Amino acid sequence: MTHHITLIQGDGIGPEVVGATKAIIDASGVKIDWEVCEAGKEVFKKGIASGVPQETIDSIKRTRLVLKGPLETPVGFGEKSANVTLRKLFETYANIRPIKEFPGVDGPYKGKGIDFVIIRENVEDLYAGIEYMSTPGVAKCLKLITRKGCEKIVRLAFEFVRAEGRKTLHCATKANIMKFSEGMLKKTFEEIAPEYPDIEAHHIIVDNCAHQLVRFPDKFEAIVTTNMNGDILSDLGSGLIGGLGLAPGANIGDGIAIFEAVHGSAPKYAGLNTINPTAVLFSGVMMLRHIKEFEAANIIEQAVLATLESGVMPQDIAAPGKGVSTTDFTQTIIKNFGKSSNAWKARDYKSLVIPKVDQRPDLVPCSSKKVVGVDIFLDSPLFGEALGSSLTHIAHASAFELKMISNRGVQIYPSAGTSPDVVDLWSCRFMARSGACDQAQVRALVALIEEQHRWVNIELLQTFDSKEAYSKAQGENQSAAPAPQAAAASR
Ligand code: NAP
Repeated sequence: MTHHITLIQGDGIGPEVVGATKAIIDASGVKIDWEVCEAGKEVFKKGIASGVPQETIDSIKRTRLVLKGPLETPVGFGEKSANVTLRKLFETYANIRPIKEFPGVDGPYKGKGIDFVIIRENVEDLYAGIEYMSTPGVAKCLKLITRKGCEKIVRLAFEFVRAEGRKTLHCATKANIMKFSEGMLKKTFEEIAPEYPDIEAHHIIVDNCAHQLVRFPDKFEAIVTTNMNGDILSDLGSGLIGGLGLAPGANIGDGIAIFEAVHGSAPKYAGLNTINPTAVLFSGVMMLRHIKEFEAANIIEQAVLATLESGVMPQDIAAPGKGVSTTDFTQTIIKNFGKSSNAWKARDYKSLVIPKVDQRPDLVPCSSKKVVGVDIFLDSPLFGEALGSSLTHIAHASAFELKMISNRGVQIYPSAGTSPDVVDLWSCRFMARSGACDQAQVRALVALIEEQHRWVNIELLQTFDSKEAYSKAQGENQSAAPAPQAAAASR
């Protein structure tokens, strides 16, 4: 069978590492019709702001499979990177990064037998890039986490672990602090885990996970996590096994997969024939398994390992002066087809089952949604006590009462007697006096407030099936009645 695959060579060292990978895959006998397409630097320079021309998009729509080199966004061209364009266009929601110790390669953990994979959510979280400046001195970024996004990544993680014959999956979150957002991944993980009784499921706090990875990296088999946590943990992981030249990756979506190394275009090495193609080559090996070419994948993987074990290495991982060129390394791998490594036992790989994606936007059923109050964010030069008195007075004419004012997440009014540092963005929490309100009442309150204050944004306080769907400020519900002197001290 002939596979149709879009091939993007990429920028900088891209043509060398992708060229080496293509040569090795072709030599393995797998039949591939490569559709060679453009993206990245030169495309930006032609004035295409996304960095990805229509022909490339059309090719990917046809093939649904991509092997790509690294892409650059040249300074002064384009608003977003071509990588982000591809990720968003094709909703590749999972980023999979295997971290495995290579035989013969020196590193601080040599001999530990590190072999784990990070399965990182790839489109949500802080990296959705939804940012606002609320005042000239206050920036915020929306940490967007959805039940749908969590279900997709958690199910894919369990399926990936199963396909690779692994036994344990950790879910790393910061749910102890961000109970709704990071908590949603933890909750989803715990709800879905019983569907996979063959896999041991553990939750771990992400900072502890980083600590454990450095101390006992061999204890982990797979880690599923949110976007930013995953970004950091996977770079930590590539550091454990000898660097970026050895770190492959895959971006998986619903019926689409883009395979690429973790590293970038390393422009200073472009055209020098010195860099390490292993990261892209192993991304290609992941691709071969994805298209069920298990035998060719094993032959290539074992040939690379045998090559490294024999001491033939590219310059980034060889002893000083001992490294071979990219092309010599490539040719040696091809010559070593049929050899195998003693150190790296081939897994019993199975096809990855991509979980079905539920098309409903409202994935979580809820029988009652109630608005119980509103947080109104003010850009104000006033401080706690003065602002509190003014808003309390204004609220008398509305359906609400001022419950508290917080600044940077800490209650300022009524004061708890502490003196937190403050900025010019105040979150003013109004609760409906009757326990519930409608949106017209919220608008009426906002109209009253804007006569005297500058509001920046509002956030409804809701309950879903009687459960509060908003967090409390630090100190909220702990302080006594307003104490003018204490409030003054908070300035
Ligand atoms: P980089 O290209 O990953 O290079 C950083 C360093 O990592 C290199 O200087 C080199 O280290 C080492 N390295 C990377 N790949 C290697 C390889 N195959 N063999 C041997 N050593 C390798 O990171 P960067 O310099 O920050 O980024 C350069 C450009 O790539 C930027 O425009 C960035 O936006 C882009 N980028 C693209 C992607 C992508 O397309 N997915 C990802 C990341 C970055 P030494 O200097 O120590 O030898």
